Amino acid sequence: MITNSVFVLSKNGKILKPTTPVRARILQSQGKAKKLNLFPFTLILESMVDENVEPYLELRIDPGSKITGFSLVDLNKNEVIWAMELEHRGLAIKMEMLTRAGVRRSRRSRRLRYRKKRFERKKPQGWLPPSLRHRLLTTETWIKRLLKVTPIKSIAIESVKFDLQKMETPNIEGIEYQQGTLFGYTLREVLLEHWGRECVYCGKTNVPLQIEHINPRSLGGSDRFSNLTLSCEKCNQKKGNKPVEQFLKNKGEILQKIKAHQKKSLSDAATVNSTRKAIFEMAQQFGLPVMSGDGASTKMIRIKSGLPKLHWIDSACVGTSEIVKLRICQPLRATCTGHGTRLVQRMNAKGFPAIASIKKNPMTGKKEVKLVAKNQKYTHATAGDYVVCTLLKDRKHVRWGIYRARVKTPTPKGVEVLINGHRISLDRRHVKLIHQSDGYEYSFTTIDQDLLRFSAI
Ligand SMILES: [Zn+2]
Repeated sequence: MITNSVFVLSKNGKILKPTTPVRARILQSQGKAKKLNLFPFTLILESMVDENVEPYLELRIDPGSKITGFSLVDLNKNEVIWAMELEHRGLAIKMEMLTRAGVRRSRRSRRLRYRKKRFERKKPQGWLPPSLRHRLLTTETWIKRLLKVTPIKSIAIESVKFDLQKMETPNIEGIEYQQGTLFGYTLREVLLEHWGRECVYCGKTNVPLQIEHINPRSLGGSDRFSNLTLSCEKCNQKKGNKPVEQFLKNKGEILQKIKAHQKKSLSDAATVNSTRKAIFEMAQQFGLPVMSGDGASTKMIRIKSGLPKLHWIDSACVGTSEIVKLRICQPLRATCTGHGTRLVQRMNAKGFPAIASIKKNPMTGKKEVKLVAKNQKYTHATAGDYVVCTLLKDRKHVRWGIYRARVKTPTPKGVEVLINGHRISLDRRHVKLIHQSDGYEYSFTTIDQDLLRFSAI
């Protein structure tokens, strides 16, 4: 068993047990079921069956800053039957907000009509910056989508990654530190994440790193998180009891970097936690029991189960105390692409309407004005739709045949699609819609079988 389970609905739209891809194919070829949705793959049965299904799955979620892992686990066997990685676009949103701020700034100095000042604009309680809110909303969307097609009994979410309270006064001495209990684990993890998994002094990676006091304890340095970093054994020995300023006398750059990082210290961890908590609270609205897990126990279960560190596998280990088994190794990958823009008129770099793009002709060196095409009449397909298209004869770069592709632009006669990076224009008779554009790009990630050789597939 390699691929994700297939979701099944009854003829009346009631949720049934997910099935295996093999059985799904048989059902389809015998005409007993039809495809309802491609991503996530869902079938609807053509005949009547027993519709009483006890919910037996747990939806486990591991919210991350760039990727959120989802997995559906069969609670009877603690076995993953479906998984997905949701790739966020927080950075893209942040950049767009910055562009907008820049345009607004330039508008302020322009001679425009007088606008009243707007005072006391408070942010409502629970406000999250747009890039983080997007994470909350897309996660909510996917919980809703899965609840519509799978018998989910409960939800488990990793809600806290680092325990800030404990980190404020970490007692890293003694048995706890040396034997690496759960707590020592957490502290190490935070430091690794915070300092980029490398020795701060020489930048070496893939070597055992030791917890290091920036300001040595013998000179009154504290055990607080902000005074801790990671270094390789060599550097740790070399630094000894010297203060950083003296140790890095000739390496001002590194010293500056460390100082800047020290300042950032806890705010990073705090943002991670605030979004995670918001996601946890959001999940309460569905009327299902919601369990919370913490990062350290997730990691412990994953290591106990002998599984590699991947987002979807991490999610499968959330909120459980038993060993997790995998039945799949090819999760769905959904990348947030957004729905394009609501602008009627695109703007140029200076914030003015871009009606025409002016480009230098590389041959003559002269500036040429190229008019941007106006909105064309839309056909049944819109940009971003997944289609199956038939090429009856060879095109310039693409052989004839049947292809799955995404619509680039709708044209008056049909669509333009991208096949292997080439724009191919097609008549609408040769195009069949299979999945409407919904703000995500889908693919499958296959992981190395060797990585999973320890686990029972
Ligand atoms: Zn080093």
